[in-house]
Amino acid sequence: MSWSDDFYSSMSVDELREKARKALREAEGKGRHLAPVIVPGRTICRTWWGKAWCRNMEQYLDYENRLPRGRSYVRNGAVIDLIIGEGKVSALVQGSRSRPYEVEIRVSALGKAKMKKVSALCSRELDSLEELVKGKFPKSLETLLTEEGALFPTAREIRFDCSCPDWALMCKHVAAVMYGIGVRLDENPFYFFILRGMDPEALLRHTVEDHVEKLLAHRDVKNDRIIADAEMEKLFHLEEE
Ligand SMILES: [Zn+2]
Repeated sequence: MSWSDDFYSSMSVDELREKARKALREAEGKGRHLAPVIVPGRTICRTWWGKAWCRNMEQYLDYENRLPRGRSYVRNGAVIDLIIGEGKVSALVQGSRSRPYEVEIRVSALGKAKMKKVSALCSRELDSLEELVKGKFPKSLETLLTEEGALFPTAREIRFDCSCPDWALMCKHVAAVMYGIGVRLDENPFYFFILRGMDPEALLRHTVEDHVEKLLAHRDVKNDRIIADAEMEKLFHLEEE
């Protein structure tokens, strides 16, 4: 255990909370609006998809005691800023020093084949998309996370970086941010798509347009048959009485 780890563990939860509050106040004072991760109780993620995100990342982020500390950090308001952009998460995590640490997480964009699979499943489950728009990740799209398209990044599809001194492969600040992402996903499951470089609005538009086109194609088939019937009637002079 490094010196800094000793130092961190000697810092009480109350101290951490106070430091985080102070950092937020200071940022606000400078006119910088931060987006802290707020966990109201002990439960970090409340939805099935947020919990699934946490379970998935715990599989490959299991570095000794980093995960429990990461959980403690996010519960106590240490993630004072967390922004999810296309394939990228930028966050500020308050630690023992007065200056918060900068964490950056990069997630690889989905390849074309996987994007197609995501689109195809969304098209098959058009009704479920309404749930998604309302902020719920539908159970019927669960395979999107792990199998079809696999929106969950694997260990090879995700890169972490932190400005803290005990940065190695992974630190508690990164762990805290990963849980923080789970909290954001709880609130807005579209972040699953954004993280993998997909524009959710474009996906929705594409899916709906594709569906409309298919419906119209069906209508054309019907019209053709009607025309054909009319022609048959003409052929047999059935319209003449
Ligand atoms: Zn760190």
